[in-house]
Amino acid sequence: MIGLTVNGILLAIVLIIIVVLIIIFVTGKREQLPIEKEFFKLGTINHLRVYGKKAQKAVDKAAERVAEIEDKMSVFKEFSEVSRINKNAGGDFQRVSSDTYFIMKKSFEYSNLSKGAFDPTIRPIVALWGIGTKQTRVPSDNEIKDKLKLVNYRNIILDEDKNAVKLKDKNQHLDVGAIAKGYAADEVRRIFQEHKIKSAMIDLGGNIFAYGRKLNGEPWNIGIQNPLSSRGAFVGMISVVNKSIVTSGNYERYFTDHGKRYHHIMDPRTGYPCENGIISCTVISDNSIDGDALTTCGYVMGLKEGYKLIESIEGVDAIFVTEDKKVYVTSGIKENFKLLDKEFSIGQDEMF
Ligand code: FAD
Ligand code: MG
Repeated sequence: MIGLTVNGILLAIVLIIIVVLIIIFVTGKREQLPIEKEFFKLGTINHLRVYGKKAQKAVDKAAERVAEIEDKMSVFKEFSEVSRINKNAGGDFQRVSSDTYFIMKKSFEYSNLSKGAFDPTIRPIVALWGIGTKQTRVPSDNEIKDKLKLVNYRNIILDEDKNAVKLKDKNQHLDVGAIAKGYAADEVRRIFQEHKIKSAMIDLGGNIFAYGRKLNGEPWNIGIQNPLSSRGAFVGMISVVNKSIVTSGNYERYFTDHGKRYHHIMDPRTGYPCENGIISCTVISDNSIDGDALTTCGYVMGLKEGYKLIESIEGVDAIFVTEDKKVYVTSGIKENFKLLDKEFSIGQDEMF
């Protein structure tokens, strides 16, 4: 009797081990396959590729969160919090969510840091040019001068105790298009961390977050778009682990009039699209909100000032591409950057 029971117990143990091994094998296999999701939000196509047991839940939650951020911050939505601040410009403080307050606080910081090269009150100028809409046109100098009077980030008044924001003057309008995509990418990253995601590629319309490492443990290789060529042609490449890579380029949104290209990154000093020789600025950083804001800062400040700004910030690097086919890489990633297109050459940055 006793012998039989011992055999029975042994058999049960062996069976349990086999079942456990099958479960580990099956779930392990499932973790090797990515869950992918593509969705249109923030005026662009977003793509998530995620590995991990809870990948499906994580991508669904992430897409919901991006939609929520759009609802709060879009200037294209009449009832967003940013639209409400705009409608009440010159009037009372508007209470907003901690998301929108955080974006406004960060926007103000980057406006200060870049001495107004980054300015979220640029909306009247962006709207005048109609970039991103079907009504694009080259406005007259007088129209531009008139709208420029409304562009002044110092008129963003923040009340931290009440999470409230107001614009000082009537007709001033905010546009967080140069920073909110980065915040959305950081929020996707946070959700992935909460779901214990191992490895993922977050792509919010070119605003990339290379999460963790590739599944095989190697770093991610990220191509830097050749601004003079079609999508998918790279000027160079960098290898990263758990980094945000954001690019502002003159090829992202533009229209052509009488053979001249007018793009969407505006110089708040002139009211015209920035023309300083830069055609793209890529920032590599730990947080995407910083990368997004800094690409716009770097682009508008110009090569020398932009380069110096990025070098002055710990843990942040940049790649500037200029129209004379030079590529300038800041010190932290010089060794890492690999030039791929032989029509371009590495620019000399000693003079900076
Ligand atoms: P970046 O270089 O990061 O930013 C450029 C954008 O910032 C410009 O398009 C302009 O909006 C603004 N800007 C220009 N110059 C400056 C400056 N000097 N300082 C500060 N800001 C500047 N697009 C649509 O077509 N339809 C939509 O419904 C729509 N909804 C959106 C909702 C949200 C919440 C966000 C964040 C974006 C949305 N967009 C939409 C896209 C948006 O209008 C911008 O074009 C886009 O975010 C630009 O991103 P980028 O990384 O290419 O450029
Ligand atoms: Mg930006």
